[in-house]
Amino acid sequence: MTVKTIHVSQNALSANREIAEQNRAKLDAAGVVALNLMASPGAGKTSLIERTIERLDGRVRIGMINSDTSRAAIDAERAERAGAVAVHLDTVGRCHLDAGMVRDAMACLPLRDIDLLFIENIGNLVCPASWRLGAHWNVLIASTPEGDDKPYKYPKMYNGVDALVINKTDLLPYVSFDLDNFTRGVEGLNHGLTTFPLSCRSGEGLDQWFDWMASIADRKAALAR
Ligand code: MG
Ligand code: ZN
Repeated sequence: MTVKTIHVSQNALSANREIAEQNRAKLDAAGVVALNLMASPGAGKTSLIERTIERLDGRVRIGMINSDTSRAAIDAERAERAGAVAVHLDTVGRCHLDAGMVRDAMACLPLRDIDLLFIENIGNLVCPASWRLGAHWNVLIASTPEGDDKPYKYPKMYNGVDALVINKTDLLPYVSFDLDNFTRGVEGLNHGLTTFPLSCRSGEGLDQWFDWMASIADRKAALAR
């Protein structure tokens, strides 16, 4: 007799995919372009969001879904202070976002009044790679103090993203980060990946990122018209 085996994690992931598709349809209907920002803790997700809000103020309306493993809404408050409409998701200890959490957070936002939505994932380079949220762009933020070996250690994350930010380039003279080794690792996993080396602190390289943000928001608005 063969006993039927149910692969719980596979089922959970396929249920997640369905909700992610519904999220995408809602975003498209409202003319919102969404980015799923993933990184290790402290890489600069919120700082990059803040800089972007400040720079695109008056040109692109920005929303933010922040997630953290506690009630402390520190980062959502930072985004609001910078001028975005923000909601905080307390995952109660869970180490990644799933599409259902994002659906619930989206329900709290005035999507019709938002052009660009940042979804700040939990700081973690492992499981966020497996859980699609319905965002149009999956973006990874690496930072130079983390070291240049991360593509080799977290290949699934580097393999599955659509764009890469290398933050804290101002610290390159002070940390051991071999950019060539890092780039080789990324190229082996995700050939030709769009990459933005920048520093949220010094401002170098930020213009290229702002231009990209404005262009994806404009393209979305043109589609929605
Ligand atoms: Mg943050
Ligand atoms: Zn997780």
